[in-house]
Amino acid sequence: MHNTSMDCIFCKIIARKIPSDIVYEDDDVLAILDIAPINPGHTLVIPKRHVRDLLDVSPEAAAKVISVAQRIAPALLKVTGAPAFNCSINNGPASGQVVMHLHVHVIPRHPSDGLISWVHGKYEPGESAALAQRIVAAMAVMPKV
Ligand code: AMP
Ligand code: ZN
Repeated sequence: MHNTSMDCIFCKIIARKIPSDIVYEDDDVLAILDIAPINPGHTLVIPKRHVRDLLDVSPEAAAKVISVAQRIAPALLKVTGAPAFNCSINNGPASGQVVMHLHVHVIPRHPSDGLISWVHGKYEPGESAALAQRIVAAMAVMPKV
C-alpha cells in the first residue's frame, strides 16, 4: 500500500477514483497524459507514493521516475513526430507547482511551437564565483541524501 494524501488529485488518479489516460504503470510509478497539455502528448510521470517534490523523494524513488521518463520520451517523439522534448519538475508554488505531489513533465517540443524559452540574465564580474563558493559551503554542511 502506498502512502497517499486524501485531498491529492494525483493520489485519486493513482487509486482510480478519478479517470485519466494512462500511458504507463508499474508497482511504483504511474504516467498519464496531462489534462491541459502544453503540446499533445504532454505526459506526467508520477511516483505512486505521495511525496511533495524533489526534496521529499528518496533517490531510489526519484531514479525510478526518471527511468520511466526515459522510456516514455522516445515513444512520445515517435507518436507525435516531435524532434525534441522538455523534461521538468516544478518544486514549490513559486516555481509553478500547482499539484503538490511530485511529477515529471515530459513535453514534446517542435521547432516552431512558439513556446517561450527562458530569459537569461547575467552576473556582474566576480558575482558568480562568490555565489558558487557559497553554494559549495552550504552543501558541505548539509546531510547527504
Ligand atoms: P504543476 O504545475 O507542475 O503542478 O503541474 C500540474 C499539472 O497537472 C498541470 O500541467 C495540469 O494540467 C495537470 N493536471 C491537473 N489535473 C489533472 C488531471 N486530473 N489529469 C491530468 N493532468 C492534470
Ligand atoms: Zn498525492
